[in-house]
Amino acid sequence: MRIPESKIEEIRSSASIVDIISDYVQLRKRGKNFIGLCPFHSEKTPSFTVSEEKQIFHCFGCHTGGNVFKFLMEYQKISFVEAVQELAEKLGINLEYNEEIGTEKQSEQELLYEINTTVARYFSDNLLKSDRGETARKYFENRKIKIQTMRSFGLGFALSGRDDLVNFLNEKKIDIERSLNLGLISSYEDGRLYDKFSGRIIFPIFSPNGRVVAFAGRVLETEKKAAKYLNSPESLIYIKGRILYGLSHAKDEIRKLDKAIIVEGYMDLISLFQNGIKNIVAVSGTALTDEQVQLLSRYTKNVVLLFDADTAGIKASMRSIEILLKRDMDIKIASVPAGEDPDSFLNKYGKERFDEIILGSQNFLEYQSAYYESLGMFKEPAKMAEAIRELVKPVALISDELKRTLLIKTIASNFNLREKLLENELLRALAEQDKFKGREIARKDINQKVNEKSIAKTEIKSDLISDSNLINEREIIELLFMGDEKSIKRIFENIQIEDFELEIHRSLAKIVYDSFSKNDELSAGALLDKIAEAEEQNYLMEIISDKYSVSNRWEEVSDSITHNKLSEKYLSDVLRKKRIDILNKMIADNTKKIESSQDENEILQLMRNEVELKNERTSLLKTGI
Ligand SMILES: [Zn+2]
Repeated sequence: MRIPESKIEEIRSSASIVDIISDYVQLRKRGKNFIGLCPFHSEKTPSFTVSEEKQIFHCFGCHTGGNVFKFLMEYQKISFVEAVQELAEKLGINLEYNEEIGTEKQSEQELLYEINTTVARYFSDNLLKSDRGETARKYFENRKIKIQTMRSFGLGFALSGRDDLVNFLNEKKIDIERSLNLGLISSYEDGRLYDKFSGRIIFPIFSPNGRVVAFAGRVLETEKKAAKYLNSPESLIYIKGRILYGLSHAKDEIRKLDKAIIVEGYMDLISLFQNGIKNIVAVSGTALTDEQVQLLSRYTKNVVLLFDADTAGIKASMRSIEILLKRDMDIKIASVPAGEDPDSFLNKYGKERFDEIILGSQNFLEYQSAYYESLGMFKEPAKMAEAIRELVKPVALISDELKRTLLIKTIASNFNLREKLLENELLRALAEQDKFKGREIARKDINQKVNEKSIAKTEIKSDLISDSNLINEREIIELLFMGDEKSIKRIFENIQIEDFELEIHRSLAKIVYDSFSKNDELSAGALLDKIAEAEEQNYLMEIISDKYSVSNRWEEVSDSITHNKLSEKYLSDVLRKKRIDILNKMIADNTKKIESSQDENEILQLMRNEVELKNERTSLLKTGI
């Protein structure tokens, strides 16, 4: 599936980047731009800048930046094509795919998505339509899962033969190599292929955007010899710790209710969802990871953990609390009675009782202290000290000081302890963390120094450019990326790629030159998309974000000049300055040659040359290009 360039441009130009980003980040106006807290790194003062005028965003803290597609890709961890589709949908633009160019190479990711989608449909047909899917249908029926729910979550069944899927893939001419990479099939030593999921019921795993990235297969109760769950291996489109099962179904409801319930299993999630509890995600197969929390924190800061009441469930809750606290999430913990899981509880006692459990959820401190109490830790002084230390530790992870103080007060009153004692314990835990942080900061410092060194070598960091000729050169680069065809033409008539002194300027100029000479789209957005190197992209973003803005500098020199950087006068001034710079270098070069030459004729020629160069310079100094 390939979207024509013109369509992409149409979508880009109809979107307001400020509107789109406002859906995800709170922005306020400052000067010409909008600023907000960067969603890509954690910060307290806003360094995330969005320019409506240039239709770009840029963070001065972590250097993430780009156009509206780049934002969606980074924010939602989706592919370029997905970002285009999402935006088109938002804007109500119809994406009819260009059949002629359709034969062009699809991105590898797209090919993998397509295979997974086809296979998911095959699994689903097995479950819903095939005679051989009877046992699987029974399984879901026993769990009271409705047909509608099976459809909605794409539930399926892998037929129990050894090569049913292999045959299907061959029949449909689906790429075997890629199917192997996706872990759908595997091969014996002799090269024969076999199905990986055979005999299992199938839960497709979706990206937040609803694409099938992987599968989980569960054995049916009748065959207990194999591992209960089998998951697709990680692939180009699937990184385990970065996916929350059910998020694509739940994200709207999570946003609406500003709360997410986290459960452990696929069946828990599906059963709850079917019963109208739709703000729900599952960690599915891994312990909760920091990346999953980060993903979730885009939708809400309020989380209810609903894990099983068994030891494994409690351990998982305890571990999850720390990870959630580190991301400043507000955590509540709910538990179903021992021996039940959310799915079985809901089926046995109904939704009302279930809602009560969610309403009665405890804060993490109550939960943890109840747990330590159940272990008898509050009966002996020695163990009690240990328990309190354990309780204070997560408090130290909270960055909000006020919240920390409140929690300490709560612990103190719950256990009849002197607050001072707990405060000391907290200070110790904080110091412990600082030590850890200190190490991290030291490491960052070193990284930065290394970076600065390499930057100094290549002179690419924009703040380091103080030479006025290089500043002028940088302004030409900015003009090239403003997407105005006339100026681009004008610049290349006067300056060649080799005339740029800095390597990074040469490679950026070349990108524009290539598009220009191939008659490609020259809009700023299209040009930005062609920069493959992150370093170059960051550099350019910093130039065209207002930090180094040409017009600001220019206004200091002369306020009679309009803000319009594309004005004739501005362009010719910049070009003239560059041309003079080039001439100066040529003249200096020429003088050196005169000094070192022994050949009278050559010297004469060089001297004539010098006069010509100087004449051109004089006339430029007077008039301009
Ligand atoms: Zn940032």
